[in-house]
Amino acid sequence: MGTVVDLSRPLYEGMPHATTIPEPRLESVRTMHDHGLRCMQLTLPTHCGTHLDAPSHFIQDGGTLDAVAVQSLIGPALCVEVNVPANNAITPHDLRAAGELAPGTALLIRTGWDALYGADGYMHHPYLSAEAAEWIVAAKARLVGIDVVTPELPGHLRPPGYPCPVHMTLLGAGVLILENLDLRPVTGSACNLFVGVLRVSGAALRATARAQGRAIGEVDALIASIARATGFTVATRDTAPFAAGGITVVNPFDQTR
Ligand SMILES: [Zn+2]
Repeated sequence: MGTVVDLSRPLYEGMPHATTIPEPRLESVRTMHDHGLRCMQLTLPTHCGTHLDAPSHFIQDGGTLDAVAVQSLIGPALCVEVNVPANNAITPHDLRAAGELAPGTALLIRTGWDALYGADGYMHHPYLSAEAAEWIVAAKARLVGIDVVTPELPGHLRPPGYPCPVHMTLLGAGVLILENLDLRPVTGSACNLFVGVLRVSGAALRATARAQGRAIGEVDALIASIARATGFTVATRDTAPFAAGGITVVNPFDQTR
């Protein structure tokens, strides 16, 4: 039986983020001691942590995240591994060698930099060449996800006026971009990807995947209906939540599982 795994990063003050956006702030505005309940207020750039780039991020008049069809956020994905050194470009050859991509698949690119999250080296990551972005568009990927802070040239290597060709090519063709994924749980495998985004123009999110290997239509239908009803969801992680012959709903915050 496949398990549901979490591909997203927790949100916290001091978390790694692009130098072009402000720091996230998490403030306690109601406490158990003073108010009898707990409530946090998040001041969060929409491109912080694990998040999705909609066309509006770079494209004038491009679609915003709240307009993205939920169906495009759920479905088959292929995680390919590439072996590219720090600050070097991922080429079409690297992607071709990694696996055959069926049209409509979400392409998840694992560079291995997810293991460096929080370390200095995380910002010295491999990136997509402009040609690789064009290859992804031509391959008709539904979306592309990567385990680095941006698929673009690392910030410290960019000349003034750098035009961000990867974002322009992908978002210009309507290919959504998932950034800051933790792809370790799905390395080199096919899976079903579920991306739960807030229903705003752009936002951090929860990304989960389920390994393929058994009929999962029922589970997918449940997840899709939750997403439709709420615009956002959480998922269990790395457990065996689905009893044989049916679905067992589990407490997603039960840390004992
Ligand atoms: Zn972004």
